[in-house]
Amino acid sequence: MAIIIDGKQISADIRAEVAVEVEKMKTDHGLTPGLAVVLVGEDPASQVYVRNKESACHEVGFNSFKYELPADTTQEKLMQLVDELNCRDDVHGILVQLPLPKHLDSSLVLLAIDPNKDVDGFHPVNVGRLAVGQATLPPCTPAGCVELLKRSGAELEGANAVIVGRSNIVGKPAALLLLSENCTVTIAHSKTKDLPGVCRAADILVAAVGIPKMITGDMVGEGATVIDVGINRTAEGLVGDVDFEAASQKARAITPVPGGVGPMTIAMLMKNTLKAAQMR
Ligand code: NAD
Repeated sequence: MAIIIDGKQISADIRAEVAVEVEKMKTDHGLTPGLAVVLVGEDPASQVYVRNKESACHEVGFNSFKYELPADTTQEKLMQLVDELNCRDDVHGILVQLPLPKHLDSSLVLLAIDPNKDVDGFHPVNVGRLAVGQATLPPCTPAGCVELLKRSGAELEGANAVIVGRSNIVGKPAALLLLSENCTVTIAHSKTKDLPGVCRAADILVAAVGIPKMITGDMVGEGATVIDVGINRTAEGLVGDVDFEAASQKARAITPVPGGVGPMTIAMLMKNTLKAAQMR
């Protein structure tokens, strides 16, 4: 039976580590990291995410600035707010909650955020820094996957890492991050030939597809470490991209859904905001 990687506990550990650093920063430099979160409209899921981010900020000792704009906010107004936040000394991280209402162009908004305050790690400058191996603010979910791997004792150097999924927010950055950890990286996707064979060869298997239980037990190699990024709402409740029961018979260690990767995203957001404040 596999070790269950406890993302809830690891996320709490990281938040506690950030809180210690924040205390030090306050005492040594009189500086409190600040995160601004911008929410446009009233999407209920986004409202929950924003509330959770706010309470994590309070937990680690950050200043948190919340901006709730009406659903009919114009592009110009939103860009103006981003500009103001870019200029503020007490704001070290800026996060515009996605998705935005349809009339707004999110890529223009993300491009307007100062890359050094882009704590989501989505700005092309930060994606480029990640690609060329420079210090950057990495996207939170894939950075959370790497943290889970490290803290669960997975050997990264020289490991054969297979990432299923090539999205800009998870698959591609996860591949770059694992490459920088000296893994041998394969990105698999919907056109990959012999996906089961490719997956079976993985020492580290990251599933970021969005199809419930598509990684079956026979796709997992003996002793692999399996990170399931998938969050799929089904009649059975929240289900990952990996068939957990079957995969845990083969894996060395595996993340559950929920309670694996999910809680890591906010912890890594806190880590990125701290880093942005330290970089300043
Ligand atoms: P996406 O839809 O943007 O990308 C899915 C990827 O899967 C695509 O690159 C596609 O090539 C690949 N794919 C599709 N069908 C496939 C198949 N049959 N075989 C192999 N590959 C296939 O999704 P995303 O944004 O990367 O998210 C993936 C999953 O991770 C979703 O379930 C999402 O909810 C979840 N997610 C979780 C978190 C979190 O835990 N905090 C954050 C982001 C995404």
